[in-house]
Amino acid sequence: MPHDVLIVGAGPVGMALAVALKDAGLDTVLVDARPRGAARGDPRVLALAHGTRLTLQRLRVWEGLSATPIRHIHVSQAGGFGRTRIEAAEHHLDALGYVVRAGELAGALDDRVRDAAIPVIDGCAVAHLAPASDDVIVSLDGETERAVRARLVACAEGGVQGGDDTIGGRDYGQHAVITVATPADEHGHLAFERFTPDGPLALLPCGRDYAVVHTTSPRGAERLLAMDEREYLDEVERCMAGRVRLTRVEPRQRFPLALRYRRDPVGDRTVWLGNAAQTLHPVAGQGFNLALRDVWALASLLRTTPAGADPGDAALLSRYRSARRVDRGATIGTTDTLVRLFSNDLAPLKALRGAGLLLLDACPPLRGALARRMMFGARAWP
Ligand SMILES: Cc1cc2nc3c(=O)[nH]c(=O)nc-3n(C[C@H](O)[C@H](O)[C@H](O)COP(=O)(O)OP(=O)(O)OC[C@H]3O[C@@H](n4cnc5c(N)ncnc54)[C@H](O)[C@@H]3O)c2cc1C
Repeated sequence: MPHDVLIVGAGPVGMALAVALKDAGLDTVLVDARPRGAARGDPRVLALAHGTRLTLQRLRVWEGLSATPIRHIHVSQAGGFGRTRIEAAEHHLDALGYVVRAGELAGALDDRVRDAAIPVIDGCAVAHLAPASDDVIVSLDGETERAVRARLVACAEGGVQGGDDTIGGRDYGQHAVITVATPADEHGHLAFERFTPDGPLALLPCGRDYAVVHTTSPRGAERLLAMDEREYLDEVERCMAGRVRLTRVEPRQRFPLALRYRRDPVGDRTVWLGNAAQTLHPVAGQGFNLALRDVWALASLLRTTPAGADPGDAALLSRYRSARRVDRGATIGTTDTLVRLFSNDLAPLKALRGAGLLLLDACPPLRGALARRMMFGARAWP
């Protein structure tokens, strides 16, 4: 008998889908190339939107997380005029977003997968998918090679595979150096987004520390990684024009950045989710937030189908594609535009950015629209 749903990848996205399908009456199985629990070691720190918090609450994973609220965001550009500050209180909100360690989120999801007794085949990579009329034959590479069948395959393997014209993208020539640094003074739940010619630098309040996402050229990343602790802290303070003072930093890690997306996230009895559907630049912190909206939309459709209905039905997957088109396109488009608009030193663009930041600063409704966009995704545009 084929499984109803086979999920490729037990990262945060694959596990979130499995948990969201827990009461759907479907026989769901997760497959991951790495040993069980490997995602708990993810060093990234994620900024989560309010909409993501609501979904994680529904999945009963939010309560156990030590999430740090962002109550103020300071946006500025290096070497240019214009700055703005977005305040949660101005929009009658408790927080503009929340900061969570990705490894901790993965751990909480893994616990829910275990509680719900959802089977996980770990240490076993999916090597090939062969969709047929009634199901997909999924070839597994592991200690023993074998194949399983599923009526729907949800691919959440964390990267966009392939290089043909079904895949779009852009190479930004940027790497992110990430770390966690301790400020000399309390951060007061203030996040910074600083646009520099090499790329954006974000400081996100995380516990009593700051999570640092430092975007720069590949050579710039080499330089940042080679610095000793104090040199690196001085460099971040210099980029922030003295707005923060830092005393300690954890080991730094590097991630190459590019935009890669599947033009169509739906295929025959197959759907791609999370980084397997689109890998975004982290400038706006949208990757996991968008993925969770996709997961929730798919799970909602699958949960409302009558018992015994085919989860890989083409009409159902087509409804999913239509439901997600606008939010997905807008999130990919705005993230890409932000990177290209803000990662350069061209004088006319610098002036335009400064004017944009001044306009935002002078216009509370615009700041409100931006705050809602950050919290809920494209459906929040007025
Ligand atoms: C520097 C940085 C900062 C970021 N900041 C934010 C942020 O602030 N907010 C936000 O929303 N997003 C952010 N993101 C994006 C976010 O990290 C990703 O969207 C999210 O982690 C993707 O999760 P995933 O489950 O799709 O992939 P992954 O976490 O990569 O998981 C994929 C899983 O699939 C498994 N796998 C791979 N291949 C196979 C195979 N063939 N068979 C079986 N299993 C397989 C892997 O072992 C892995 O466990 C950031 C990204 C970066 C790089």
